[in-house]
Amino acid sequence: MAGVLDQPVQYLKAVGPRRAGLLGKLGVHTLRDLLLYFPRHYEDRRILRPLGQLVPGETVTAGGTVVGLEERQLSARLRVLRACLEDTSGRAWATWFNQDYLKQRLRPGQTVVVSGRVKAFLGIPEILVTDFETAGEAENLHTGRIVPFYPLTAGLSQRILRQIVFRALEYASSFPEVLPEEIRARYRLPGIAQSLRDIHFPPDKTALRRARLRLAYEELFVFQLALLARRRRWQSRQKGIAHAPDGELSRRFLAELPFSLTPAQERVLREIKTDMESPWPMARLLQGDVGAGKTVVAAAAMVKAVEGGYQAVLMAPTELLAEQHWAGFRRWLAPLGLEVGLLTGSLAKKEKEEVLARTAAGSLPVVVGTHALIQEEVRFRHLGLVVIDEQHRFGVTQRASLLQKGWQPDVLVMTATPIPRTLALTLYGDLEVSVIDGLPPGRQPVITVWLPESRRQEAYAAVRREVAGGGQAYVVCPLVEESEALQAEAAQELAARLSREVFPDLTVGLVHGRLKREERERVMEAFRRGAVQVLVATTVIEVGVDVPQATVMVIEGAERFGLAQLHQLRGRVGRAARQAYCYLLGRPRSAQARERLRILSNCHDGFAVAEADLRLRGPGDFFGTRQHGLPQFRLADPVRDSRLVLAARRDAQSYLARTYGRVPALENLIAERNNLTKI
Ligand code: ADP
Ligand code: MG
Repeated sequence: MAGVLDQPVQYLKAVGPRRAGLLGKLGVHTLRDLLLYFPRHYEDRRILRPLGQLVPGETVTAGGTVVGLEERQLSARLRVLRACLEDTSGRAWATWFNQDYLKQRLRPGQTVVVSGRVKAFLGIPEILVTDFETAGEAENLHTGRIVPFYPLTAGLSQRILRQIVFRALEYASSFPEVLPEEIRARYRLPGIAQSLRDIHFPPDKTALRRARLRLAYEELFVFQLALLARRRRWQSRQKGIAHAPDGELSRRFLAELPFSLTPAQERVLREIKTDMESPWPMARLLQGDVGAGKTVVAAAAMVKAVEGGYQAVLMAPTELLAEQHWAGFRRWLAPLGLEVGLLTGSLAKKEKEEVLARTAAGSLPVVVGTHALIQEEVRFRHLGLVVIDEQHRFGVTQRASLLQKGWQPDVLVMTATPIPRTLALTLYGDLEVSVIDGLPPGRQPVITVWLPESRRQEAYAAVRREVAGGGQAYVVCPLVEESEALQAEAAQELAARLSREVFPDLTVGLVHGRLKREERERVMEAFRRGAVQVLVATTVIEVGVDVPQATVMVIEGAERFGLAQLHQLRGRVGRAARQAYCYLLGRPRSAQARERLRILSNCHDGFAVAEADLRLRGPGDFFGTRQHGLPQFRLADPVRDSRLVLAARRDAQSYLARTYGRVPALENLIAERNNLTKI
């Protein structure tokens, strides 16, 4: 549906090949791109300052009649043109540098409006002009109004870009209106053409605010529609597996657990099971703070899948965590007569072949592993449920590859990195979200203390005290980003020093990313049994590790870790009823690092920590390189505009419910408006 908006920018008279090339550098190729190239900021130049009231250092807009002109060559490179302006209150010089073409345009007697900074002056004040307009220009774009400023590229000035955009706005009315009438009416949003005109050249601040709101809302609405429509299409074309209702096995699993589920766990499990029993493929995100008890919920869902005759798989981001889940699942599932397989990169060849063969034959009902699971050679006989733990650690493609192993399997992704709800909606708008709010009974917030390195002994004293009382300790090494090898070395040194000098009477263990599997399993098992009392660790323990008797953690070089990461690390303790402690050692050098440590000492709820982290760092860094597929909006900011996200989500849902059957037309609109091919 190529229309005028698809015309290249050269379609405009003001744009020749050179300017088209410059615009191209800004990502602006068509008239549509140009209209959607929004100003970065604005200057209010509506009020003219009387020339008799200029104050040095201020940036002003003023106007007057040209009563004199002079030109001087200051140096080989610098030529200045000055116009003396007069109004009823006084006189001022307006000064331009190296603007030869102006000589032709400025004439005595002419009225001019200029914007710029007022120089320090003794006699007649002087304005260093950044923008100006002469009376009689067709429209005022640069002064005497709220003036837009665009991101530029070398060779393209604000003046030129404003003129080009202004020309393009003649075609604003060709923009199709994608917001349904009743939604515009409900929020009193202006139409698309009006919004485009107002965001580029706002007549006043209210119009600007409305235009921005409308355009930001539209981005979010269209994005949500795209996500929902995609999911609907997916679900309507291909039915998934309708898992059988719970039977004896599911009942026994819950009955034989050493604890009963919390109401929150029961609620999310019900949500999951309802999805599983429906004939549509489940796509659900399970959120819950560190230690909230997601694993057991996943296990219950896996038992259900197995009970109905399917296989279930769980993928974890580290070998350490996969091995822990494997051990834990065997404890829970062996009494039910269910075997659990492990598949990671460090399995011996023979073990691996056996697991692969039994997985393909369907004789292993439950398999846990790392991304080794997504390799080509891994086949299931009838995969019915895929669980992805700590899913933010995986890329989109890795998740997708695991799904390919089954025919429309149900999918449950879990995360302990609490994502604020609005961001979850923006990121995973095509997933349903279940939240385990609250922790299992008896948990107390981890007492978190920030200590300078000079007071390290206090942290060690706490370790001693806890161990004496039957607890256990983690000591986390400072982060070495450069290489895993260096990190492992640093950990070895720390462990050696601690066991020699600080805790000669205790058993100090060590885990890091370079240990062989047997060694790692041996150490973790010893720590779990209590044979190792102090575990020195790198960030390999950051996610998922669950040893409930651990009650104290010392984090070295805490200022180097991100807030979310510190919260995750701290989550390794405080996993049972006993009071736990976390000592953050470090000398934060930046204000931000200080703020991070302060937030963590005062804040125990992962969602609050994550919100704070987002505020401190912005969504890009928050997810860093770990999170792929964060949508980029022009105006909307999913963090700042959280209420708008929720409204857009709700509106998109009800709109889709009403227009179901007309989805293709909708998709055309979506495709035409946003290049959402990436999602
Ligand atoms: P996470 O949500 O961080 O993955 P886990 O699933 O590892 O948390 O659970 C943390 C700890 O809490 C585990 O030791 C688990 O056995 C325990 N746990 C989970 N649910 C309950 C419950 N309802 N009552 C008591 N302990 C529980
Ligand atoms: Mg977990």
